[in-house]
Amino acid sequence: MYKHPLQDREKMSPQEALTILLEGNQRFTQNISAHRDLLNVVNITKEKQHPFAAILSCSDSRTATELIFDQGLGDLFSVRLAGNIASRKAIGSLEYSCKYLGSKLIVVLGHTNCGAVKAACDGFTGGHIGEITKMIFPAVEAETETKENRSSANNEFVGHVCTLNVKTQIDTIWNSSDILRDMLNQGQIGIVGGVYDLATAEVNFPEQYQIFSSDHPLVQN
Ligand SMILES: [Zn+2]
Repeated sequence: MYKHPLQDREKMSPQEALTILLEGNQRFTQNISAHRDLLNVVNITKEKQHPFAAILSCSDSRTATELIFDQGLGDLFSVRLAGNIASRKAIGSLEYSCKYLGSKLIVVLGHTNCGAVKAACDGFTGGHIGEITKMIFPAVEAETETKENRSSANNEFVGHVCTLNVKTQIDTIWNSSDILRDMLNQGQIGIVGGVYDLATAEVNFPEQYQIFSSDHPLVQN
């Protein structure tokens, strides 16, 4: 069963796209999965794809987006980079998915116990990994609550930085993409931030990170 046929996806609202992801994650946490005839989906989507959501998430082997949201082929435009960083190429991929493939929702998805976030918490800059951590440093700086033991050894600190990193990457997308700003201004897409918990398999989407209009305080200049 292909749950959301291509012709219906154009009518889907950004909020509906989020609901579908939440329901999928709920199935995943209950260890059940919607039945999918994936070979049939291969046939349906061979000429054209219409992923309903574009997800910028971490490359971590435990955070495969299609699995944790219980989605099939053709459902998610998946952009994965360590630390779910909104690099220019990542933003280009999100623009492509929304503007040209019709995705209704952008999800920036962090996760607990993230190695890239921990490396940034420790100020690591070695090799090309430094290209990643330097994009997470603003989140480390934004964490002003923790006064002592600001390192990866402090789980609470790492957790705060993880959540702030989701906000940091949303800010970067908002500030650097005219295409996505226009689409949000016109109500064509939403942007939401979430955190996947490696221990419970649940994704939490904080309300303050659910942006469905340009009036949202997170995206006001
Ligand atoms: Zn990670």
